[in-house]
Amino acid sequence: MLGAYAVGKTSLVQRYVQSIYTDKYLTTVGVKIDKKPVQVGDTEVNLLLWDIQGDDGVEKLRSSYIRGASGYLLVIDGTRAATLDTAHDVQAFVDKEIGLIPFVVAINKADLIEEWQITPVQIEELIARGWLVQHTSAKSGQGVEQAFSTLAERIMEK
Ligand code: GDP
Ligand code: MG
Repeated sequence: MLGAYAVGKTSLVQRYVQSIYTDKYLTTVGVKIDKKPVQVGDTEVNLLLWDIQGDDGVEKLRSSYIRGASGYLLVIDGTRAATLDTAHDVQAFVDKEIGLIPFVVAINKADLIEEWQITPVQIEELIARGWLVQHTSAKSGQGVEQAFSTLAERIMEK
């Protein structure tokens, strides 16, 4: 799980793994690892979800956390334009550190879509770059299952 502070990384994992959502801010200390089996074609694979420190802009993103990753969910908060810039920085950082690995972009907080600062044009630009983009809401559950299963498929295709 990668992306700016408070975009919803921890909430998305909670929604996906435990089917729950809480408005309380979930402080992430160090790293929490959750496991979820997911069906990819005929194979059941275990996704090991690493949810790292809340404050994980590029400066704090430690390469030791990402070195073993098979892929990542790159989370953006649709209501905060700056989190798109962070996503670009994070993607470039991962690319530089470990090379190109599969990722899926989750533009989160889709339940607040009227308040989004990320514009349809910006989303089109991401898609034009070849990025897989999924609208998600950890709150409503919208798109969450799809985002993780698309990531699992991407990883297994490699
Ligand atoms: P993290 O720092 O990326 O792990 O972000 P959190 O999961 O802790 O979420 C930060 C804040 O955004 C919390 O107050 C969450 O309740 C809220 N949040 C997370 N996902 C959503 C969502 O899909 N919709 C809304 N409305 N709020 C969300
Ligand atoms: Mg967190």
